[in-house]
Amino acid sequence: MSRLTLEAKYLGAMIGSAVGDAIGELAFHYPERNKLAQVVEGVAELRYTDDTAMAIGLATSLTNKGHLDGQDLGETFRRSFEQEPWRGYAAGPPTIFTMVRSLGIPYAQAAQSLFNGSGSFGNGAAMRIAPLGLFFHDSLQIYELACDSAEVTHAHPVGKDGAALQARAVAQAVKLDPQKEFLVDFFVRDLIDFCRTHEIRGKMELLEELLNENINPPLAAKQLGQSVAVQESMPFAIYSFVRHPRSFEDCLDCAIMHGGDRDTLGAMAGAVSGAYLGVQAIPSGWRRKLENRQTIEQLALELAESTVSSRQRAVGRGQRAVDRGRRSEVRDQREEDH
Ligand SMILES: [Mg+2]
Repeated sequence: MSRLTLEAKYLGAMIGSAVGDAIGELAFHYPERNKLAQVVEGVAELRYTDDTAMAIGLATSLTNKGHLDGQDLGETFRRSFEQEPWRGYAAGPPTIFTMVRSLGIPYAQAAQSLFNGSGSFGNGAAMRIAPLGLFFHDSLQIYELACDSAEVTHAHPVGKDGAALQARAVAQAVKLDPQKEFLVDFFVRDLIDFCRTHEIRGKMELLEELLNENINPPLAAKQLGQSVAVQESMPFAIYSFVRHPRSFEDCLDCAIMHGGDRDTLGAMAGAVSGAYLGVQAIPSGWRRKLENRQTIEQLALELAESTVSSRQRAVGRGQRAVDRGRRSEVRDQREEDH
């Protein structure tokens, strides 16, 4: 089988995250022993929450600007919240929107002022980061760019580190070929080496231990945590993916059906699994039921197109530099000849 296209992987991450968010939210109403398929069967439409609304905002800002612009991102989030305040937002973002409007301060400054000046380490920056992980999947600055996107609402170093790690997981998943063997140890070790706070690193090292000892999901969920704090939910989303790299459905089932912050666990695990396996791996019935699917698909395709054209621009710049180098070599040679 041919290598998956970039479009299929981008669609997989964006639709996978939205489907995970929507099913996770739905699953709050079902006992933990239910299977996901049963949960989805009972509804005509999969309705997403703030996780996807903000991922749409991030993708919109990235495609409009062609780069990360924190202030534009904050404004995009604010407009989206004002149009649909019922998407299940936590208290942080609306507080920040009000502060920016009434005090005229930048988003990052307003976000920093939360929690007595330490900023939030909730999972709200990680839950929405898939578009950034896609757009900058081959950038060496992905850590810094992820932090810049996080600090609009989540200014605590742990909140930013968790978002950066989730972005890295999506980026690595985009680059891996699902037709080849999935090297769990390699994937997890890369993430451990990537994070920069001891809170996140400690959890990722625990994840590695749990995998080595083949600890089952219910116990792993308890040990890694499933709360709204990013270091207590993002690692279990990664665990769910690496336990089930070959099946989107099993990955999501693991992430969602063990309780905790289910919509965000679903959004994070679904983004990584979808980025790895591609959109075809997401059950078609789930995709069909997803609310606002065409908008999300359109954004995924625009992100893929922007990635390719920015890469071509970079190659063009490199080629022009090479040409300049050649011209000056020719000049030097001529001067020597004279
Ligand atoms: Mg939510």
